[in-house]
Amino acid sequence: MRRIYEPSAYAPQTGCYWAETVPQDHWPEHSGVQNAEVAIIGGGFTGLNAALTLAQAGRETLVLEAGTPGFGASGRNGGFCCLGGAKLPARQMARRFGAEAPHYWAQTEKAAIDHVAKLISKHEIEVDAHSRGETQLAHNARRWLEMQLEAKHFETAHALGAHLTPKKALADEGLAGPWHGALTLPIGFGLNPRKYHAGLARATATAGAELFQSSPVTAMSRDGNRWRLTTPGGEITARHVVLATNGYSSEDLPDWLRARYLPVQSSVIVTRPIPPEEQQRQGWTSDQMAYDSRRLLHYFRLMPNGRFLFGMRGGLKATSGAQAAISRKIKADFHGLFPAWRDVEITHEWSGLVCMMPGLVPFVGPVPEHGGLHAAMGFHGNGVAMGSYAGHLIAHDILGATPKGPYPAFLRQPPGRFPLGSWRRSLLAPAYMAAETLDL
Ligand SMILES: Cc1cc2nc3c(=O)[nH]c(=O)nc-3n(C[C@H](O)[C@H](O)[C@H](O)COP(=O)(O)OP(=O)(O)OC[C@H]3O[C@@H](n4cnc5c(N)ncnc54)[C@H](O)[C@@H]3O)c2cc1C
Repeated sequence: MRRIYEPSAYAPQTGCYWAETVPQDHWPEHSGVQNAEVAIIGGGFTGLNAALTLAQAGRETLVLEAGTPGFGASGRNGGFCCLGGAKLPARQMARRFGAEAPHYWAQTEKAAIDHVAKLISKHEIEVDAHSRGETQLAHNARRWLEMQLEAKHFETAHALGAHLTPKKALADEGLAGPWHGALTLPIGFGLNPRKYHAGLARATATAGAELFQSSPVTAMSRDGNRWRLTTPGGEITARHVVLATNGYSSEDLPDWLRARYLPVQSSVIVTRPIPPEEQQRQGWTSDQMAYDSRRLLHYFRLMPNGRFLFGMRGGLKATSGAQAAISRKIKADFHGLFPAWRDVEITHEWSGLVCMMPGLVPFVGPVPEHGGLHAAMGFHGNGVAMGSYAGHLIAHDILGATPKGPYPAFLRQPPGRFPLGSWRRSLLAPAYMAAETLDL
């Protein structure tokens, strides 16, 4: 497994709040020689959703996870089950993929949230859900003007009733802060990602899939019309293989993947529970999941137990020095936006890898010239809903079935390569600097 970050980015996580909220799942380690119809590499939301759909259709399916259950981004995200998954602006999407593409993509985003909501309800997964959709806060006057136009667009183009809150009404809605106004879209909800992951794993195992932890695939090769996967404990042959490794992908599994994805670090802090009187002092009493309108955005939500979660981009490197610097920055940004909580203890702090793609849209489809190999990846930091849905879609490809929901053809276009090969994350420093300037 050749990866582009320092080893600590791939080490077991510490400091993650979610780990304390759910007993750690244990799956067996893979050993011996085994045949399966489908082998899925990666046991996050994407891999488990693919496995669940396949197992429910009666396919012999197994999931190979390198770490413990929930090791990757699925076990350590902000829990925003929200719109998103691509970073390509609508106008460019229309130019590249046709005039209807942005509309079809918007339907896909909605379908992804619906998909997760239905799973949670069907499998009775208790996820501490809250928030009526998502609220975007304008960090400057220009963005507030744009938001008012966007609100009209959401109503006319997507039939999504958007709610605008002008600056003077923010405090009444418990959203006080240095914002110029807010736009709320009534779709999406906050969840505890570990609880969702654990419930999903239970449902997947019950449907008949085999789940293995501590079983990294260290090599893969084609053997006739089957794939041969090597793990430390043995070997698997499978007709179909799904890459569901997202930000934790390797350059050489398979070689085709080299430089076609860019892992990017994201950081989160969580405070101790903040009682109602302290919430009043800051003027933030809303349980809406919220984010500001910066390109390098801050995302935050007051959870049902009163703890406050606050996230933003992570460090450029995973060295201890870079992590210390990003730790100072996330705390400074949190205190800058929520000054009355300056003395509120931050009890948890962690980071993880999200995945960008060169074309700024996810890739969900067959890997070219690799018969039987499929991938679902590249959710640009919004994969709670979209990763789940992408796993479900890729399972339909394998089943040769048409999914009930939308599956835009452009998701199946294989990604190109980032410039600079294994040095490509150095593209992030100038990109962050440019974004910071534009965010002023
Ligand atoms: C800090 C943070 C905050 C985030 N917040 C949000 C949010 O609020 N809302 C949102 O929508 N999205 C958020 N995201 C993104 C979201 O978590 C991801 O898009 C989503 O979890 C991706 O799921 P996945 O299953 O594709 O990948 P992952 O959950 O990353 O799983 C990939 C798995 O593949 C495994 N793997 C890799 N290589 C191998 C191998 N060779 N063999 C076996 N296994 C392997 C890894 O161990 C890993 O567990 C956040 C991400 C981070 C890091």
